[in-house]
Amino acid sequence: MPSTKKNIVIIGGGLCGLKVATELSKKLKQTPETSKHYRLVVVNDTNVHVYHSDLYEIASAYNEKITQACLTALEDSVCIKITDVAKKSGFTFYRDRVTTIDTETKKITLKKRETLDYEYLVVAVGSVTNYYNIPGIEDHSFPLKELTDALTINCHLDQLFQERAEKKNDEKVCIAIGGGGATGIEFSCELIGFLNKLSKKYSFSRKDVDLSIIDGGYEFLKLGKKPNQIVKKRLKKLGIKPMQGTYIKGYENGNLILEDKKTKKTSTQKNDVLIWTGGIKANPLLQSFSKLNKYGELDVNEMLECTAYPNIFAGGDNATITHPKTGEFIPKTGQFAAQEGKIIAYNIWADINKQYKKQFKPLLKGYLVPLGGKRYMFIRGNIVFSGIIPFLMKKVLDIMYFNWYMPLTTAVTRIFTKEKIFVQND
Ligand SMILES: Cc1cc2nc3c(=O)[nH]c(=O)nc-3n(C[C@H](O)[C@H](O)[C@H](O)COP(=O)(O)OP(=O)(O)OC[C@H]3O[C@@H](n4cnc5c(N)ncnc54)[C@H](O)[C@@H]3O)c2cc1C
Repeated sequence: MPSTKKNIVIIGGGLCGLKVATELSKKLKQTPETSKHYRLVVVNDTNVHVYHSDLYEIASAYNEKITQACLTALEDSVCIKITDVAKKSGFTFYRDRVTTIDTETKKITLKKRETLDYEYLVVAVGSVTNYYNIPGIEDHSFPLKELTDALTINCHLDQLFQERAEKKNDEKVCIAIGGGGATGIEFSCELIGFLNKLSKKYSFSRKDVDLSIIDGGYEFLKLGKKPNQIVKKRLKKLGIKPMQGTYIKGYENGNLILEDKKTKKTSTQKNDVLIWTGGIKANPLLQSFSKLNKYGELDVNEMLECTAYPNIFAGGDNATITHPKTGEFIPKTGQFAAQEGKIIAYNIWADINKQYKKQFKPLLKGYLVPLGGKRYMFIRGNIVFSGIIPFLMKKVLDIMYFNWYMPLTTAVTRIFTKEKIFVQND
């Protein structure tokens, strides 16, 4: 018999969506009389919730031999199974891909199942890699956005070194990272250790390996002058070539086409591997909505309700959210996505129970940027420092994050297990 309950559907089991699901499950249990009329459903295209902030470690994790077992261990270290969370929290989970959203009929279409009605909808599908239509880049680069991207980069680099070593010629291996934001910086700094290990593994001359990081602007991370200086010093120490004020204009026959921002002069740079960390854009699923803003994203009010669509909430990377005091855009990062998830959960519960909704008040806890091994940098306004303290802060935050979805002992064991894997390249 079909269920008479109304569906609260959350699309996306990422940092925002899974937070909404767990928080809302808890809240609904507090008000059984009203909640009995609703069913909470999470739809995610995979069974895993990915903790993105460690993906750079996966892409550069060293393995003596790449086996299915070590790839599974890598996956387990950054992923949480949504089925486990669903079982514990009591929501329904569909491992499926949403293909369209119809706001008129209040139905979403799924790839494997047919359609799903909703009373409330949460859109938290994240973002996708932006190649800015630069000729040749999408076809000749590796993104670092999803778990599969990180595993692909890892296996590809191992294979490349093996092939080059077998060729026994003096040709250099030229690797470039395109984009000097947090992902590009953390990955390049960690990659050095991996390249050292690969060179040793395949008896390849380390001096024949070039690593550069290319950015169109003059400030890595875009978090101020001091973080930029610390990063530049660190890159220099690690032997990574920083190329600022340089645009990547294309990829042609094994070469990057570069343009100097000031002089507009073009040049070419040999390239064997380009890792693209240049930016993100709206998830194509948002095309289902006829009313999107100029960024192709959903506009929301201070309660995180879509301004153009009643009963639809949006958070995380697919929503444009402004700071209630400064009017600035909220950065698209995990720390805010999770905070947004919490407010969305509360506000759906409040709507069902005819309570006042809460305003989203973002809290910036600071940025922790890995700079290779156990060296991290902490940035919060004018407070900027680097060393092992931020590394320890990150581990505490990791434990707190995983503890939200699993018991504390499991979260702590997990952090120690993954640390053992991650230090192999240090
Ligand atoms: C490499 C990397 C490192 C990062 N490091 C940090 C960091 O250190 N700190 C930080 O704060 N932020 C970090 N971020 C940013 C952070 O991960 C994102 O801002 C955050 O994940 C956004 O949350 P979200 O819920 O919007 O999207 P996501 O967490 O990406 O979740 C979206 C979910 O939707 C699913 N999905 C997408 N399309 C569909 C569909 N059509 N049907 C069904 N399911 C779908 C996806 O599988 C995914 O599970 C990093 C990002 C990357 C890529």
